[in-house]
Amino acid sequence: NTVYLNGRYMAAEEARISPFDRGFLFGDSVYEVIPYFQGRGFRLQEHIARLEHSLRAVRIPNGRDWVAILDQLVELNGGGNLSVYLQVTRGDSGSRSHAYDAGLEPTIFACCTPVRDFASLPVAEVKGLAAIVTADLRWHRCDIKSTCLLPNILVLQQARDQQADEALLLRDGVVTEGTSSNIFVVRQGVIYTPKRSSEILGGITRELVLELADENGIQYQETDIDYEALTTGDEVWISSSTRGVLPVTSIDGQAVGNGEKGPLWARMFELLTRYQRKLMTGS
Ligand code: PMP
Repeated sequence: NTVYLNGRYMAAEEARISPFDRGFLFGDSVYEVIPYFQGRGFRLQEHIARLEHSLRAVRIPNGRDWVAILDQLVELNGGGNLSVYLQVTRGDSGSRSHAYDAGLEPTIFACCTPVRDFASLPVAEVKGLAAIVTADLRWHRCDIKSTCLLPNILVLQQARDQQADEALLLRDGVVTEGTSSNIFVVRQGVIYTPKRSSEILGGITRELVLELADENGIQYQETDIDYEALTTGDEVWISSSTRGVLPVTSIDGQAVGNGEKGPLWARMFELLTRYQRKLMTGS
């Protein structure tokens, strides 16, 4: 398992980060998770653009050749289907002071783990997920992919304690997203999803789902979704880079629609699969 740390590739056991690193002390850092299929980054440019947005928003210097760093990491790990994690912290300030000096050298760490290619699963084998709905306890800059994930972790665990797979988050009466996914509701053949704002992460897969909807004449609307609208829809989906688009078939113990995976979800799953195959193999 080869990792990247501050300009060098090394065995994971050899990687050392200072306890005074601000990423460790304060969560003063941002990250990306990028799937590589057959050794190639999927929507890589979009992920890099979002990383640069996060860095700019928290004023951590940018300017690395991210693609080269990640491509080489993947190659050193044998290519194939990998989920690449990239974290950039503000660096090591040598003490635990909240204030930082401009000019700190960011700490850059990347590693990868095997991931299943979401497009390799036959549609019939995809399982419907159970979700709970709970309060969104996060800050108001969820568009920044920050490593401060304590609220996400706590509510996901709350979902797990209730045998659910994901927690959907409710803020000021409207659904924002899942703890690590974006959310879609289908009603009478139309897809509804919260509009992009600083209350949600601009998901790369969310963007792709809307793109595919556009190209295939499927109607969608970016709008507020309240609890009532969420729980009375015909279908509910979540999306993320490593999981693609997945059906949610129960919310708070109640069936979504007829409790089965929906037909529009199946269509979107096929569109996503086809898009992914075409991009990855050129066929
Ligand atoms: N929202 C949150 C809070 C997430 O952590 C993720 C996973 N990165 C997503 C949405 C989905 O984003 P993407 O499709 O870019 O993986």
